Amino acid sequence: MPSTLFIDGTWGPAEAGGTREIRCPADGSLVGVVDEAGEADAVRAIRAARASFDSGVWTSVPAPERGDLLLRVAGALRDRAEEFAEVESRDTGKRIVESRIDMDDIAACFAYFGKLAGQDAGRIVDAGSADVVSQIVYEPVGVCTLITPWNYPLLQAAWKIAPALAAGNSFVLKPAELTPHTAILMMRVLEEAGLPAGVANLVLGAGATAGAPLSTHEDVDMVSFTGGLVTGRLIAANAAATVKKVALELGGKNPNVVFADADFDAAVDNALNAAFVHSGQVCSAGARLVVEESIAERFVDELVRRAERIRLGGPFDDDAETGPLISAAHRDKVTAYVQAGIDEGARLRTGGRWGEGDLADGYYYLPTVLDRVERGMSVVRDEAFGPVVTVETFRTEDEAVATANDTVYGLAGAVWSQDAGRVQRVARRLRHGTIWINDFHPYLPQAEWGGFKQSGFGRELGPTGLAEYQEAKHIYQNLSPAVTGWFPQH
Ligand code: NAD
Repeated sequence: MPSTLFIDGTWGPAEAGGTREIRCPADGSLVGVVDEAGEADAVRAIRAARASFDSGVWTSVPAPERGDLLLRVAGALRDRAEEFAEVESRDTGKRIVESRIDMDDIAACFAYFGKLAGQDAGRIVDAGSADVVSQIVYEPVGVCTLITPWNYPLLQAAWKIAPALAAGNSFVLKPAELTPHTAILMMRVLEEAGLPAGVANLVLGAGATAGAPLSTHEDVDMVSFTGGLVTGRLIAANAAATVKKVALELGGKNPNVVFADADFDAAVDNALNAAFVHSGQVCSAGARLVVEESIAERFVDELVRRAERIRLGGPFDDDAETGPLISAAHRDKVTAYVQAGIDEGARLRTGGRWGEGDLADGYYYLPTVLDRVERGMSVVRDEAFGPVVTVETFRTEDEAVATANDTVYGLAGAVWSQDAGRVQRVARRLRHGTIWINDFHPYLPQAEWGGFKQSGFGRELGPTGLAEYQEAKHIYQNLSPAVTGWFPQH
């Protein structure tokens, strides 16, 4: 087995010799065996990142040249997209067509930040005096740790790696322990593109061990985390002791608001996409359907009819329309949320069962619709992160907005209506970081992504996504030094 930890430009094993088997969630087949880092390996990686940052080996490269490297990386990722997509599909169980789309988005992300690097060189501030030059310059934050989840393994990593490198930082990446393989390939691409040793480091392993030093170690300046709310809280608390900069991209309980005057077929079709793409393992999944009462019955009947036709299958099954959940433990969690909803009085319209027959070897869960739910139910309040959509109804615009905003999360939401004024009004009133109007799920590398409320803080993508990895420094130069006269000159 080749070594899979990448520290200070060298591939090596874990100090304690640990390894982990990675199995495909679609059928349990062995995908590979990787090194399992412990705390000591994570600390080594942090020290390597610190040394490379302090040496100036990457920071001193002019920003446009850093951008050129990112553009070369984008090209390499496009050239090798099929190989990457296959690996991503084996680790996650997601359909190969979805992994191919992810690869396009990953390459686009590197290209975007490659072009953005160095475009904003700072600004001159009017200090109100001809004797003063006052300037703002942007500098890298330093050593950044990047911690990512398993649902979009390389995409979530790319959203962090590309801006971190564009800004001149050194980093340690820790992908989710279940889905490490595309991160390994990514490091090879960075190496081949000529990134100096120690700037990019990779540790693989569990959060509680390999991940822990990434939010506590004094040599880390910033931790950028994408994952669940509970882990995010812990990481923010850990980082507080050394006052690290923190960026958190957490979960969502995203409302999909449908008014009676919406394009019916488009709204049903997108509600299906919103809830069931990647079996609902999407932070921005439209897991709460909020539909106007007058069309609710017809709308949900059609949603159920179509949900029952969704074909489940493995990543390379041409007939499959969505895939398995990531693990047995995760499927148990989804199962428990649905059961809790039913126990509390929700009506199960379809799903609520595991895949059977050909699907029995994987962690499949059928697309599930629950109506007659109450807002207090855990299946409505918490992120189940599976193929589960709950249905709530409203009568007025105010009621729709109040329902859609009644969540501790604030990541994304959608509004469906053909009334041009209403969609804008509602979009402005929804307290979520991304709002789609008559659409669901698209995002752009040039548009900021991130959460309101407990969906986190900080932004990825867009110019703010680069600014996250920069410090703004004020340099004030007095062109005519003179005594201040503040204290008498004895
Ligand atoms: P998770 O919180 O369990 O794990 C995320 C990462 O944190 C993993 O790499 C894990 O090993 C690591 N980790 C766990 N404990 C840690 C610790 N103590 N210290 C350091 N690292 C630790 O999340 P998950 O189950 O992998 O991913 C699903 C979650 O991610 C969902 O809540 C989803 O909404 C969220 N997510 C959010 C976005 C977004 O853009 N906001 C995108 C994708 C996923």
